[in-house]
Parts: sequence; C-alpha cells; structure tokens
Amino acid sequence: MWQVPSNPVNETERLAVLEACRMMDSPGDERFDRLTWLAQHLYEADVAFLSFIDEHRQWMKSLSAPLVGTQIDRKLSVCQHIISTGKPLMSPDLKTDPRFDGHPVVPKIPLRFYAGVPLIAAPDLAIGSLCVMRREAAAEDEAFDFSPLEALAAIAVDAVALAQRNEELAAESRIDALTGLANRRGFDDALLRAAGICNRSGEPLSALLIDIDRFKTINDQLGHLAGDMVLRRVGEALSSVKLRQGDMVARFGGEEFVMLLPGSGLAGAMEVAARVRTRLIEAGIPRPESGMVTVSIGVAAQPGDAIDGLELIARADAALYAAKRAGRDRVVGDGMEAAPN
Ligand code: GH3
Ligand code: MG
Ligand code: MG
Repeated sequence: MWQVPSNPVNETERLAVLEACRMMDSPGDERFDRLTWLAQHLYEADVAFLSFIDEHRQWMKSLSAPLVGTQIDRKLSVCQHIISTGKPLMSPDLKTDPRFDGHPVVPKIPLRFYAGVPLIAAPDLAIGSLCVMRREAAAEDEAFDFSPLEALAAIAVDAVALAQRNEELAAESRIDALTGLANRRGFDDALLRAAGICNRSGEPLSALLIDIDRFKTINDQLGHLAGDMVLRRVGEALSSVKLRQGDMVARFGGEEFVMLLPGSGLAGAMEVAARVRTRLIEAGIPRPESGMVTVSIGVAAQPGDAIDGLELIARADAALYAAKRAGRDRVVGDGMEAAPN
C-alpha cells in the first residue's frame, strides 16, 4: 500500500544545501540535458529526468522527453522515496508494485518501469534524483545495474557545485574587498538595472557622488594603511545611513563613493546627502593634522522618462567638482549654486 515517504532526518540541512545551490526554477542548462539524454539512451528508456526536490515540490531541471510533467507535488513524487532513504530505487512495474498500490498518479501515467538514484550533494544528503522510466514494465528478474546512473548523477552533482561556485565568484567580483561595499562593477550593473526600471516605471533616479576631502594628506602623513582604515570607516558610516529598499551604496573608486536612489528626485536626494554629512559628523573619523574627515557631495537626478546612467553620473561629478571648488565639506546639487556652509 502506498504511503507518502517520510522526510529524511537531515531535512533542514538538505533544504539549506538545496537553497544554496539555487537550482530550483533555474534556467535550462545543456550540461544537465546531456546527462539525461545519455541516461535515456544508456538504459534504453523512454524518458530520463534530473530533478531537485524542495520542501513542497519536485522540479525537473532536465527532462529528456515530455512524458512526465515539469513539476509535481512532493507528496505525489515517486522520487520522494529516494530522498527519504538516500538510496537508489527500482521498480520493474510501478503499476503492479505493492509499494505504489493506491498512488494517485501512477495509474494515470503511460510509464511502468522506474529506476532512480539520489543526487548526493554531501554525505547522506540527497537534494534531487536522476531517473529513467520506460513505457514497458521490466521482467521481475531483470538484472539492473545502477552504476552508470550513479556515475551520471555524480557528474550532475559536480556540475551543480561548479555552477554554485561560479555564482559565488561572480558575486564576489562585484564586492570591494576593502570596504565590503559593491565595487564599480557592481555599481555599473545596478545603475544599468535601475535606469531600466525607472525608465519603465516613470520614476526619477538620482545619484550622490561622495568624495573624501583632502584624502591624499591622510595617506601622505599616516601611510596607506591608515588611509585604508579611513576608507573602511567612511564605508561603514555610509552603509549605516538609512536608505530605502532598492537604494544602494558603492565604492565608485579610490576615495569616492556613490549612492544610487531609484524613485528619488533632486530634493529627496539632497536630503539624503544632508543625512550622509550628519552621519559622518556622528562617526567622528579623525584626520591626522586636526579635525574630522569630511566629504564633498555632488547630487544629480533625472526624471523617469529620460534616464541615461552615464549622463546622471557625469552631472553628479560636475556638481561634486563645484562643491570642491567652493571650499569642500558641502553638498551641491546639479544646476544649483554652491551654498556656503
Ligand atoms: P580632494 O579634496 O580634492 O578630493 O583631495 P584628495 O586628496 O582627496 O584627492 P586626490 O584625488 O588628490 O587623492 C585621492 C587619493 O586617494 C590618491 C590615492 O592615492 C588615494 N587612494 C585611492 N585609492 C586608495 C586606496 O584604496 N587606499 C588608500 N589608502 N588610498 C587610496
Ligand atoms: Mg577623488
Ligand atoms: Mg578626495
């Protein structure tokens, strides 16, 4: 009699590993399609599939033929047996197999033979399955060799690990190692995305270019390591400014930082710039000669129907230059006169 197989004892850990590899609902990938194609042909099957199983459902990352659905409720999944035990499973004929007697789906599918192995991501940790199925039932006494299927499953697990590492490296390549903020590459991506979103939604986009005043003197007098520490502390202070969801802070380069504020016009961005200066005063980062570290800020905004990321930054840069010229430690908005502090 069929019963929904229990979850494995390490289900929480299993779900964490599955989540980390971000495979569920990921785009199609030839690397996995080659493996299901091979499995189908190697076992003279009618279909092979490679699936991942999360808390609620089994989702097919690759399906060699459209003979089964692309996802199924986990409670109805034959592969849940594999997840439950962590062991391979073979049924010569699902339709007469007592283990599936009363299963809601098995009688309705045009497939009888089933063999599957777990995708073992770590010892005793099955995140999915690689399976072959045939229309015809196998003879009760057919010898079945799981080894090739297990070898293909191991290759699939390696491909998952590689894809995960690639994603991690791609994310790391967008982070500045010194401050932990997004770096220029991360910022450029975010700018492109934000410009697209704001142009579509009609919302304005604004940017703050924030440059540390006379930073070179800090390096010259205290050395580059002390300069690095100042950069870190400024980065921390900027990160602690309360921003809206979707806003971002990045290290633009050298001793310059940038804030991107989708949905904010010039007035809103000027307010954020004032908050940045207040936050830096609160942080009280000392300078070698005397006084505290200050910044100059250039602010620019564009309306939602005319956003050009490069132009936005060029305008913020021109405003920053005006702030420097007017004596530093101040905020200047695009098109505005530099006000005295
Ligand atoms: P201003 O007020 O006009 O902005 O003067 P400034 O001295 O801040 O500007 P300048 O552009 O002359 O100097 C910036 C310095 O920042 C020069 C460069 O060596 C230093 N710098 C850039 N990146 C780093 C870094 O990662 N660490 C350290 N310690 N210094 C850096
Ligand atoms: Mg600079
Ligand atoms: Mg500077």
